[in-house]
Amino acid sequence: MSDDGTIPINICPEEVDCVGADELKDMPGLFDMAKNLLKDGSNIVSNALGGNKTLVSDEVREARWAICQGCPMLQNNRCTECGCFMKVKVAFHATSCPLGKWDLTI
Ligand code: SF4
Repeated sequence: MSDDGTIPINICPEEVDCVGADELKDMPGLFDMAKNLLKDGSNIVSNALGGNKTLVSDEVREARWAICQGCPMLQNNRCTECGCFMKVKVAFHATSCPLGKWDLTI
C-alpha cells in the first residue's frame, strides 16, 4: 500500500519484465488472448497425448525466436498479434506464428 493509502496497480519489481497498462493497450483483447492461449494449450496437450514431442530443439527455438525478434509485432517479448510471451511459445512444438512467419516445420 502506498503512503496515500492507495494500492498500487503495478506492483512488479523493476527487474521483472511485467505487463503494464500501456503495454496492454496494443495487445489483443482479453477474450482473444484467452482464446489463443486455449488453442495453443490444447494443441500442446493433444500433441503430447499423441506421443509426439512437446518441446522443439534448441536450434528450432532459436530460429523461431530470431524471426520474432525481427518482427514489428514483437513488443517487450510479447506478440501484439496473439498476446503470447514469445520466449515461452517458441519452445513448444505444437505452436505457430499467427501471421504464418514460422510453424511446425521450423
Ligand atoms: S509470433 Fe509471428 S507475428 Fe508474433 S512476433 Fe513472432 S513472428 Fe511476429
